[in-house]
Amino acid sequence: MAGLSRSLVVGGDVALVWDDGHESYWPGETLRRACTCAGCKGEQHLFGRQTLPTLKPLRPEAFVPVAVRPVGHYGLQVSWADGHDHGIYHLDALRAACPCEACTAARAAGSSKPAADS
Ligand SMILES: [Zn+2]
Ligand SMILES: [Zn+2]
Repeated sequence: MAGLSRSLVVGGDVALVWDDGHESYWPGETLRRACTCAGCKGEQHLFGRQTLPTLKPLRPEAFVPVAVRPVGHYGLQVSWADGHDHGIYHLDALRAACPCEACTAARAAGSSKPAADS
């Protein structure tokens, strides 16, 4: 598992530089929609349930990151322009879902293999 070397806000993106030199650029909107805090529960919405809890409509500033801060050795806290900062993103999840071309291609290739635990 790679640790995080640097994290910063670049325009409307959150840029992460990993210990192994890899860089991830997360568009603010993608990251905010994945917020896992109790108020947003982003990721849970993506899986499984047919009846979705009602999400509050987000204003445009909700997708603008203003600051990032490492949390221990496992997480990243993002402050958003609408004042929201409750979500802590796990580094493992951020790296595993890295939106860069190379990682997206690797995941596409990997997903065609049978699951190891089936
Ligand atoms: Zn949230
Ligand atoms: Zn990547």
